[in-house]
Amino acid sequence: MTATRSYDVAVIGAGVFGAWTAWHLAKRKQRVLLIEAHGPAHSRASSGGETRIIRMSYGADEIYTQWSQNSLRQWKELFAETGERLFQDTGVLWLAGPDDATLQRSKGTLQSCGVNHEILERRELEKRYPQVNFDAVSRGLLEPESGVLLARRAVTRTVESALRLGAQLQIAQILPPRGAKKLEFIECSAGVRISAGSFVFACGPWLGKVFPDLLGTRIFPTRQEVFFFGTPPGDTRFAPPALPTWLFQADEVYGMPDIESRGLKMARDTHGERVDPDTQSRLVSREGAEWARSFVARRFPALKDAPIVETRVCQYENTSNGDFLIDRHPELSNVWLAGGGSGHGFKHGPAFGEYITAMILGERSAEPRFSLASKTTQQKRTVY
Ligand SMILES: Cc1cc2nc3c(=O)[nH]c(=O)nc-3n(C[C@H](O)[C@H](O)[C@H](O)COP(=O)(O)OP(=O)(O)OC[C@H]3O[C@@H](n4cnc5c(N)ncnc54)[C@H](O)[C@@H]3O)c2cc1C
Repeated sequence: MTATRSYDVAVIGAGVFGAWTAWHLAKRKQRVLLIEAHGPAHSRASSGGETRIIRMSYGADEIYTQWSQNSLRQWKELFAETGERLFQDTGVLWLAGPDDATLQRSKGTLQSCGVNHEILERRELEKRYPQVNFDAVSRGLLEPESGVLLARRAVTRTVESALRLGAQLQIAQILPPRGAKKLEFIECSAGVRISAGSFVFACGPWLGKVFPDLLGTRIFPTRQEVFFFGTPPGDTRFAPPALPTWLFQADEVYGMPDIESRGLKMARDTHGERVDPDTQSRLVSREGAEWARSFVARRFPALKDAPIVETRVCQYENTSNGDFLIDRHPELSNVWLAGGGSGHGFKHGPAFGEYITAMILGERSAEPRFSLASKTTQQKRTVY
């Protein structure tokens, strides 16, 4: 065993949640070590994609609307510091099927939270976006100031900013922790011990592997395939500002316009099969590619023969209902479980880091929706 090093807080995992947790802790003058097995937002991490949507609509779930508002402010401040355009205000367009109840609930929440938005009736949608087939869509809700985060790079910049604030980064794999009542130290696979006052495990889809007894059946990593379609040469109809980021609610499919010339991105929001993030294949399936082609041909008829120019296979790290998991370990009083982004967590990184920092510093009460006790072993999604 080699030397022991000591910190106020050790954060394990440099995805979006761990990165912002380290950032907020460092901002509050805590001595922080961020430990990551591969590197910030690496290609197997849930935060490792090129782009993620940031939107304010969450039906009646005001807490997430407020977190999105708070987070977008902080993302913009970070990007102003780095001088890069890692947020693109493409606008986000929600498209309701015949049942528009969720859209109406979002409208009420956006109104009470002061978020700029516009309801677009079907005729208006067809006029503004003639490149889209709105078959079976009743109406839309446009958030003109929401858009897309350049995800992978945004996490890297968060980590770099945290390092400037005094945090340290170490590339190492942490072994599942052992202890009773209080955790004294964690061990790297290389044998180094790290002691800290508190430990935050922000291990995303790996949480169930780090805490198999506690979380093995409470975190559901699911396979998610993502497709990029090449747009015709010289055709700007599928790039911003002509096309916003879009979500067909009844189809449970979302996507975004051509960002940085990667093509039209689209993916299913339905949960795929349960997977292991270390071993799942990163090649898309033939069935998935065929489905993606037919969806694009139906909703974007001019792209019916468009080539698939890029693909990604990632995983959601779902809790039973989609609410985040931010809570103390039930037996180890100085260990925090931090994850459960459930396919919608990326945008909330800044507010997530701020919340857990306040919890660790004993400055706020716990939000019951983020408790371990509220997470069951049956998947029943309620947060979208
Ligand atoms: C295809 C796809 C599309 C998505 N779209 C959106 C979207 O549009 N908008 C949105 O807001 N959200 C979206 N999400 C969800 C969002 O990306 C995730 O909720 C979020 O990135 C989770 O971040 P995380 O930090 O919890 O996990 P991760 O990014 O996976 O980070 C966990 C880190 O912990 C490290 N780690 C694990 N175990 C150990 C260990 N033992 N030792 C050291 N390090 C360890 C891993 O290497 C990893 O880097 C999407 C997710 C996917 C997969």
